Amino acid sequence: EEQINQIRKDLDMWVSGHDVAKPCISFGHFGFDDRLINAIIKQGFTEPTGIQRQAIPVALSGRDLIGVAKTGSGKTASFVWPMIIHILDQPELEKGDGPIGLILAPTRELAHQIYVEAKKFAKVYNIKVAAVYGGDSKADQFKELRNGHVEILVATPGRLIDMIKMKATNLRKITYLVLDEADRMLDLGFEPQVRSICNNIRPDRQVLMFSATFPKRIEKLTRDVLNDPVKIHIGNVGA
Ligand code: ADP
Ligand code: MG
Repeated sequence: EEQINQIRKDLDMWVSGHDVAKPCISFGHFGFDDRLINAIIKQGFTEPTGIQRQAIPVALSGRDLIGVAKTGSGKTASFVWPMIIHILDQPELEKGDGPIGLILAPTRELAHQIYVEAKKFAKVYNIKVAAVYGGDSKADQFKELRNGHVEILVATPGRLIDMIKMKATNLRKITYLVLDEADRMLDLGFEPQVRSICNNIRPDRQVLMFSATFPKRIEKLTRDVLNDPVKIHIGNVGA
């Protein structure tokens, strides 16, 4: 216990919540299989970042989580790798006819970046990733969603709602939801869309929220959407 507290202190990390999984100091300790480890090494990554050390074991334990850490700290991988494990764990029956993992992001640029990052690791397992966001052709995105068996979907909230209305996709099988850059999503006025999407996802889901800051409005959203979350706060970041 003391050793764990020291690891967290060294990482300038604050954790709240009960029964929090232990942090892992190296990639070898996450329990990932060789294919994923090799894909990580291929990226030139040698050790997990601070947020990854704590968020990944918590995510793998099935808990909801709030991760607050500054930009550039490797938050994307900390939700993408456990999402891949979650998808591999689903029974065959659950696959097909709609994504299992959903990542909501505030802007097309960010959605695209997450898509690129997720694909690097998902492709190792033939897990299909798609992205939908404003500014690109709805017809093309519609086709991509309708034709393929998409397991991971990255989306901006408004465009996802359009795609659901067009019956290009559905939320029935989503059991792993990520709200990335939650503070920016609210700043950009997407709170109603985010809430509407969350309200239409089955209750037996895992939710991970990442944000660079943690204002009151985010706190309220976490109370409404997350279930008994672990909160991980790294460094000297906002509110
Ligand atoms: P954030 O979402 O926290 O702003 P990103 O997930 O975009 O950060 O990661 C920032 C950069 O760090 C990306 O280029 C990513 O590929 C890289 N990165 C992620 N994890 C590691 C790691 N463990 N070691 C080295 N680089 C990493
Ligand atoms: Mg990010």
